[in-house]
Amino acid sequence: MGRGRNTFLVRTVGIANLLVLVAATVVLSAAQVEPDPVATPGAVETPTAPEPAPTPRLPQPTLPPPVDATRESAAAAQANELGLVPVLMYHRILRKRLVSLDRTPGQLRAEFVRLARSGFVPVTATEFATGRMEIPAGSHPVVLTFDDGHPSHFGLGDDDLPKKGTAVEVLYEVAREYPSFRPVATFWVNGYPFGLRDRKDQARAVQWLRRQGFEVGNHTWDHPLLRSLKHRKVAEQIARTQRLVRQLGGGDPSTLALPYGAMPKRPGWARKGTWDGVLYDFAGVFLAGAEPSVSPYAKGFDPGAIQRIQSNGRKGECRRWCSDYWLSWLDRHPDRLYTSDGDPQKISFPGALGGNIGAKMKDRANPY
Ligand SMILES: [Zn+2]
Repeated sequence: MGRGRNTFLVRTVGIANLLVLVAATVVLSAAQVEPDPVATPGAVETPTAPEPAPTPRLPQPTLPPPVDATRESAAAAQANELGLVPVLMYHRILRKRLVSLDRTPGQLRAEFVRLARSGFVPVTATEFATGRMEIPAGSHPVVLTFDDGHPSHFGLGDDDLPKKGTAVEVLYEVAREYPSFRPVATFWVNGYPFGLRDRKDQARAVQWLRRQGFEVGNHTWDHPLLRSLKHRKVAEQIARTQRLVRQLGGGDPSTLALPYGAMPKRPGWARKGTWDGVLYDFAGVFLAGAEPSVSPYAKGFDPGAIQRIQSNGRKGECRRWCSDYWLSWLDRHPDRLYTSDGDPQKISFPGALGGNIGAKMKDRANPY
């Protein structure tokens, strides 16, 4: 990996992020259904009964037992845990696309199949941001992220199974066909998760997802441009969704996706804060574009500003910055891709890349 290439990536990506942000702002301002900003979540009973087990009718997000990596096993797996990780960003999944950001269920399925065939294994945004990616040796992590809590991402039928054509249903369909493709994803929601207005329905959806191993994260209360808000308003926007997901039984969200990928005036305001007695302190804050993320073990990884890639073809601003482009680029540059050693403790990589490891990670290094 040459220094020149890194500089190129950083410089070009700065421009790309800006382009994608502008495009996304225009598109989303038109497409967003704004939840009512004055609505306050009603009291939802915290479930006291023992949690039901995940439904055995669906593929489980289990992982093979971890191995103890040696230099030899890491070399055999061609491990590179300092490599790049695609964090894919999805918006609405519609049979008939209305804006460029929309994907059809068929396009979603085709992308999942492509990833499965290329040896990618999904991890959640929290698993990625905290470096707890316990995927098999030789496989590559991918993070599947869905913004805005749209009904096309997830909904439950009367049979307690995901509705046909939703992102979750498509993911299970692919996981059945490709058992290595672990069915996990991250859903970043606003004030009305999955378009549901009733708190009981919201609780049922959020708890179901959590039980099955999915992550429900924070995407602010009503999707404002955080850059235009004062500190207190930024904290309110984040804390209200934090409180909602907790009250719904979705756990304490540990990741945040910035609306439009835009930082508040001070980046630190998004990462950590408090409002009305609600604290938040995220393991990861995610942007909206436009390149693969560096490994959480690599020098330069910033958990307060994690890169993502918009899922899309190669038209318009996506000619170079979206998933079709980047997944092909990673196919052509396997030496740049994160490849696991199968050992959650050790960080394995070809010896020549040793200079790229983060300072705090050095005692876990396993160069070969
Ligand atoms: Zn959004």
